[in-house]
Amino acid sequence: LVSRQSHPERSVVRVGGVPIGPGAPTLIAGPCAVETPQQTLRAALMARAAGATLLRGGAFKPRTSPYAFQGLGEAGLKILADVREETGLPVVTEVVDAHDVALVASYADMLQIGTRNAQNFALLQAVGDVGKPVMLKRGMSGTIEEWLMAAEYVAQRGNLDIVLCERGIRTFETATRNTLDIAAVPIVQELSHLPVIVDPSHSGGRRDLVLPLTRAALAVGADGVIIDVHPDPGTALCDGPQALVHEDMEELGAVMRGESVRQ
Ligand code: PEP
Repeated sequence: LVSRQSHPERSVVRVGGVPIGPGAPTLIAGPCAVETPQQTLRAALMARAAGATLLRGGAFKPRTSPYAFQGLGEAGLKILADVREETGLPVVTEVVDAHDVALVASYADMLQIGTRNAQNFALLQAVGDVGKPVMLKRGMSGTIEEWLMAAEYVAQRGNLDIVLCERGIRTFETATRNTLDIAAVPIVQELSHLPVIVDPSHSGGRRDLVLPLTRAALAVGADGVIIDVHPDPGTALCDGPQALVHEDMEELGAVMRGESVRQ
């Protein structure tokens, strides 16, 4: 269902009216985690200033350590809905449990499946059933074939509004958090009609790499990027070191418009 054989034209997925697909690349940006109403609103305004048309933010956070901040849950979803009201930015947020799909879908414009759940088939089927656009991240050790088969699980339930997100894979390299598999973008676009975006924040895991990796993503034809921004990353409860700050927003906007080749 997601192959180009079944559908030769590349698809456009609309999220609250915002297109993702062939055409101008889409910027999705916002905090890694929703922490407070103020922090989320400030991050959303930063994102919008750089040209973001969709707001990201995690209310349910899948953390490696059970002692790390796990997200605000429904209270975080309410904050996202309020910030959407204030900024006009539709909301992309992660769902980690099949039992929470209806709840998250009642607040979100797009449901994100994170790398750790890339082969959680019950969750994939549940988001397929709920009828909201889905962003499907690549498993950190997942092959392209496994990633596309995960998308088939969603599509099989009648939901073809799927955006694939390359977010880096696990390799022997330790200088970056994950290794951005940039070749995956054109390969997947050849194999599948679904839009493909890149997450330069979670792949590099380092603020200084976010803009270079964004340039790389756009250069190979990614349909968009999803980027962490934070008004005060020193206090961030999640992934502060990879969050862009106020001073980066102008450059991010220029990169997205294709006006900035290299710093
Ligand atoms: C995220 O985008 O918040 C996230 C946790 O990403 P990933 O699943 O790619 O690690």
